[in-house]
Amino acid sequence: MRYIEPHAHMVSRTTDDYQRMALAGCEAVCEPAFWAGFDRSSPAGFYDYFCQLTEHEPKRAAKFGLKHFCWLCINSKEAEDVKLAEEVIALIPKFLNRPNVLGIGEIGLNKNSRNELRVLELQVELAAKFNQLILVHTPHLEDKLKGTRLILDVLKNDQRIRPERVIIDHVEEHTVEMVLDAGMWAGMTLYPETKCTPARAIDMLETYGNERLWLNSACDWGVSDPLAVPKTALEMKKRGHRTTAIEKVVFSNPKRFLKQSGKFELPEN
Ligand SMILES: [Zn+2]
Repeated sequence: MRYIEPHAHMVSRTTDDYQRMALAGCEAVCEPAFWAGFDRSSPAGFYDYFCQLTEHEPKRAAKFGLKHFCWLCINSKEAEDVKLAEEVIALIPKFLNRPNVLGIGEIGLNKNSRNELRVLELQVELAAKFNQLILVHTPHLEDKLKGTRLILDVLKNDQRIRPERVIIDHVEEHTVEMVLDAGMWAGMTLYPETKCTPARAIDMLETYGNERLWLNSACDWGVSDPLAVPKTALEMKKRGHRTTAIEKVVFSNPKRFLKQSGKFELPEN
């Protein structure tokens, strides 16, 4: 089965992972800009990272027959320093025309702090000004519900932001409905330890339908599984979902959303 991995931090993964993803039917991988696991000390660190995401990583993926796309931003974990964030945000426009850049992401909140919220607003402004798609990271565990509400408020308050051009990622049972009700897309992240298990993700699909929903592994430098999406597709098959319904969630839905960028092209299309 073919699939798209719409959220993976491939700079942290090995070539074995690329090979296994390609073998499992992956056609394209999309990499939001993220925290490196440690705080970068200057805007220059982000400049190099944006070069890595737009120049080096697409070439590495191509060696395994995979298309590589990315999203650019400063992530919420490094958004406490508003001055640093402003300097990083100022770097982004010159990268937006690069062929594999899909939009602004993963922006959002981590601890729901005032500074994080300020930096979120600056990046929503950036996306609106340059007419970019938006990919949003929502906080974990006890901060998720409040954080998701705050994020939706920021997005709804900006009349220039069209909800169908926004994906809110890492939704769970208590946040998926408010995202879909807002007209936005929802991403379900499949993690071995936290976030969603395949069973919980499939339960949500069975409850809320399969419109404007996608699955991703969000694999990074921590405990995560780059094959979580095809493994969940297999689990759907075991639970009696039809092939066309599975392909919709793992391939057609991400393709439909990402095509709005004007840049998301797969080889045979
Ligand atoms: Zn991520």
